[in-house]
Amino acid sequence: MSLKLRILGSGKEVGRAAIALEYKDRAVMLDYGVNFDDNDNPVMPMHFPPNKLDALVLSHVHLDHIGAAPLLYSSIAPRAFSTNLTRSLSRLMLEDFLKLSGYYLDFEINEVNSLISSLESVSHGSKVKVGEFEFEFYDSGHIPGSLSVKASTPEGNVLYTADINTIETKIVSGARLNNVEAETVVIESTYGNADHPKREDVEKRFIDTVKEVLSSDGTVLVPVFSVGRGQEVMAILEDNEISPVYVDGMVKSATDIMLENKEFLKDPSLLKKARENQIFLSGWQDRRTAWKKGGVIVSSSGMLKGGPSRYFLKKIHDNPRNAVILVSYQGRGTPGRELIEKGTFSEGGERIRARLEWMDFSSHAGRSNLLEILKNIKNIERIVLVHGEESVQKEFAKNIKEILGIEPMIPATGEVIEIRSP
Ligand SMILES: [Zn+2]
Ligand SMILES: [Zn+2]
Repeated sequence: MSLKLRILGSGKEVGRAAIALEYKDRAVMLDYGVNFDDNDNPVMPMHFPPNKLDALVLSHVHLDHIGAAPLLYSSIAPRAFSTNLTRSLSRLMLEDFLKLSGYYLDFEINEVNSLISSLESVSHGSKVKVGEFEFEFYDSGHIPGSLSVKASTPEGNVLYTADINTIETKIVSGARLNNVEAETVVIESTYGNADHPKREDVEKRFIDTVKEVLSSDGTVLVPVFSVGRGQEVMAILEDNEISPVYVDGMVKSATDIMLENKEFLKDPSLLKKARENQIFLSGWQDRRTAWKKGGVIVSSSGMLKGGPSRYFLKKIHDNPRNAVILVSYQGRGTPGRELIEKGTFSEGGERIRARLEWMDFSSHAGRSNLLEILKNIKNIERIVLVHGEESVQKEFAKNIKEILGIEPMIPATGEVIEIRSP
């Protein structure tokens, strides 16, 4: 019998997660996401025939994990699994993706609808059997509603961590994978070569900066991702009784959807309080008042590619009393990355005069935590690194070899890993 992993994306790159597990002549797809090139155009994963699929699993709602999934739903509709929160948020994310990048996409709203109506809700700890595959789902602690999945077949099993984090934040409790048994582990390696600073230290630095700026009547702009970081920042500000806080962009609807799915939040009452006390902006009048009056503005998009955060940046950048605090990874070619590297942000190369900070609120486990995850999984025979840059993966692989005695594989996109040969 043959069992293999086909790497359709995320081989030696961060993003574009797409991995097929093939058993005999059937398969299941673990994520089917996109990446973005230097011009910010979407890059699709490799093609896979949807009629061979018994099921698709979506680990979480970030576009680098779900962005290409509608492509699998044009002619037929394979079964699909995610948490209920991922399902509810995916419409928001995919419709926005169509709006921004529709021109480059080979699917339309019909395929998005077909995907979403195929999605069956699963919860952390539940099991599902589909054909000869069985899935078991675990909390991956990356963002609310995110999961890791173990896919078992009669010939062997694979644990796919997807994006994973072990630490507790204001909105998630961290991954729960201890004592899981897995023969092959496919693990993300975004930060396989570095540890993050302690979350509480980063939170403190963040709040100290905010207080300093507010005490001199400045405005703080915090560009955030709509799902995950946005709510975390809202919760941190609320927990420290900072006001006024304005919230704008897609992060607003994402927050409301999360509050309707409270079981995926670590502390729903804190986010609920933030929702009540912070001001959700709508319309230009509101926006003008917000940046003129001073306070903290939490707004998508996180890399300043679009959304109201770009508008606010234009309005507040030239006053040294103001501050821009970046709290997310800034992709190559994005305005956020340009700000960090050159201190400029507009097409004309205008310099920012406001205070600029970049703080590490990562939702991906760092090296030590990734190693801890691997150490706590039982009976591992094979480790496959995905979702990481090659240089990082090589360093991480060396560490794993030293500590666990297993030489990890670092497949490129397009590679096939034979687990059992026919
Ligand atoms: Zn990812
Ligand atoms: Zn993610």
